[in-house]
Amino acid sequence: MQASLTVPRRILVTGGAGFLGSHLCDRLVEAGHEVLCLDNYFTGRRKNVAHLLDKPNFELMRHDVTFPLYVEVDEIYNLACPASPIHYQYDPVQTTKTSVHGAINMLGLAKRTKAKIFQASTSEVYGDPSIHPQPEEYWGNVNPIGPRSCYDEGKRCAETLFFDYHRQHGLRIKVARIFNTYGPRMHPQDGRVVSNFIVQALKGEPITIFGDGTQTRSFCYVDDLIRSFIALMASPDDVTGPINVGNPVEFSMLDLAQAVLDLTGSRSRIDFHPLPQDDPKQRRPDISRAKAILGWQPEVQLREGLARTIAYFEARLAEPADV
Ligand code: NAD
Ligand code: UDP
Repeated sequence: MQASLTVPRRILVTGGAGFLGSHLCDRLVEAGHEVLCLDNYFTGRRKNVAHLLDKPNFELMRHDVTFPLYVEVDEIYNLACPASPIHYQYDPVQTTKTSVHGAINMLGLAKRTKAKIFQASTSEVYGDPSIHPQPEEYWGNVNPIGPRSCYDEGKRCAETLFFDYHRQHGLRIKVARIFNTYGPRMHPQDGRVVSNFIVQALKGEPITIFGDGTQTRSFCYVDDLIRSFIALMASPDDVTGPINVGNPVEFSMLDLAQAVLDLTGSRSRIDFHPLPQDDPKQRRPDISRAKAILGWQPEVQLREGLARTIAYFEARLAEPADV
């Protein structure tokens, strides 16, 4: 049933074979749009969208956003970029290029096709924040030369480009600042805390807490987040963002480890490791804008989302090879 669909649109999703991108493709295909999923498979995998390949309104394309792209589209969701510290620090120059050249190429495409364009920005634009929780007006506290800078500054520069294309060329832009999100199809080896703890607990390996575990994050379940992307894209043209999207309920890494241990029934012990450089002490979105403008807020509680994510990893770890 596609009651909400008025006109099917041609929609490009860059980074569409990744964690968030594949869930977004699911929702857009389900709604009857023509979806072009583009990815270079650096951190994504074809398997994330394999179930969509036989749909007539889905197309998968290997392409790197640092190179120009010539297609005809009505909307673009620009998600291409490695998101976890292990992956974005693997080739930091390429990370900055993906954010900056990728944004220029996709904005150029939006300009030529007059498409509406969404940018997956990040809470990392706030760096290690000195204001808590973080409202969109906060300009951030980012180290420009540290190991996280390729990602943080790349995303900040992409935001600058989006707003300059908007002011200079009248592009319709939608900038979302995404806070930590988790769920099925996360990469099991990407080093992010939720996937790490779950995989460690399921394998009976020690849970690795960095620092003393009192640092906090706010975790949003993927289905909630994808609803916010679609609501933002559908909002009136004067809604450009930036707009925070995430779950404002805050947990310490110790709380998270305990929840994972409870839900998996694992007997893994907890090991403490040094805190990585520039690791933010606390992070929680102020989502007042998203609530007021989009009428959006997360619905899935952490324990419920963790249970669904644990079920996914149980199945994935039983796969013969990680392809
Ligand atoms: P992900 O690594 O699973 O997905 C990123 C996708 O982009 C992958 O499929 C990867 O192969 C692809 N990609 C990377 N470089 C590319 C390039 N040059 N050309 C084409 N494709 C390329 O990560 P994710 O968690 O799904 O993140 C998606 C987007 O959301 C990213 O832009 C990320 O910065 C942003 N984001 C995610 C989170 C989160 O908690 N998951 C938080 C903040 C922002
Ligand atoms: N973290 C941890 N153990 C791990 C992986 C991460 O304690 O095995 C911590 C990390 O130091 C950070 C928090 O969990 O304080 C969130 O880390 P993640 O990489 O998931 O996201 P980000 O730091 O980008 O918010």
